Amino acid sequence: MSGKGPERFTKATLPRKTCVACGRPFAWRKKWSRDWHEVKYCSDRCRAIGSAKPLTARPTKA
Ligand SMILES: [Zn+2]
Repeated sequence: MSGKGPERFTKATLPRKTCVACGRPFAWRKKWSRDWHEVKYCSDRCRAIGSAKPLTARPTKA
């Protein structure tokens, strides 16, 4: 271990976020190591739920 590769985390120092779809906290996973800063959902299911809703409320054309 000599600092090679991307940032590493131990179990105790795993970054956490709150899923914007279900509101549950989730911890960093290796599969998110490249785009952790963009992760908003704890799972693909939540991402599907989240992306189904418009992030910004737009006035609907009547
Ligand atoms: Zn979720």
